[in-house]
Amino acid sequence: MWLNGSVPTRTVNQKQGRQVNGLLTRLLAQLLERDCRLCHEHVPSGEALCPQCRNALPWLSAGCSRCADPRAPACECGHCQRYPPAFDRVVAGFEYRDEVASLIRRFKHGGDLSAGRVLADALAEQCPTDLPPTLVPVPLDRRRLRERGFNQAIEIARRLPGGIASGLVVRGGSHQPQSLLAAHQRRRNIRHAFRLATDQVPTRLTIVDDVVTTGATVRELARILARAGAREIMVCALARA
Ligand SMILES: [Zn+2]
Ligand SMILES: [Zn+2]
Repeated sequence: MWLNGSVPTRTVNQKQGRQVNGLLTRLLAQLLERDCRLCHEHVPSGEALCPQCRNALPWLSAGCSRCADPRAPACECGHCQRYPPAFDRVVAGFEYRDEVASLIRRFKHGGDLSAGRVLADALAEQCPTDLPPTLVPVPLDRRRLRERGFNQAIEIARRLPGGIASGLVVRGGSHQPQSLLAAHQRRRNIRHAFRLATDQVPTRLTIVDDVVTTGATVRELARILARAGAREIMVCALARA
């Protein structure tokens, strides 16, 4: 009885299995044969960008070994030597200029999520393989999140290898946008902007942000995460200004 009943079921399952397999093969083929995200030329390797678009972007090649400041030599810059940050290193894909700056503006202020994905996918291809897998996107305060409708750092983190721990830290609401302030004002403005939402902080983590400018935001976030027990803190950003 049990055996008889199971025969037709198995036949149907096998047929469905073949259909699912065919669908998976097609989806896989589409994923492997993606087009360049900027010019839509076919890219046989499946990478995010075709060689022409890749070469046209301002990739971050050298800079401070700690904060990735592109104006500094390849060793630690004077600022990092005088005021060592709590993070180990900033990994950034690009210098914040030209096409990259306009893609990031489109992403953040124009709500064009695909512009952010282009850069995040290119960044993901550059990430070191030993990047700590717990991703901590820089939080937005509630008002800014409501205005924008999304947190750009979470959108970037979605494209990076690892798992997102977005509820770890919250951001208070009384601070001005960092982009409107000078360097010394940024440091004061961001001080105590973040609050831990848990006492369970992983020992290895990666802070994710869109643009590192003076570094004041990621320095402050790294400071409170280190104080709560994080021992290895990397920062991953689309661009370094
Ligand atoms: Zn292209
Ligand atoms: Zn530095």
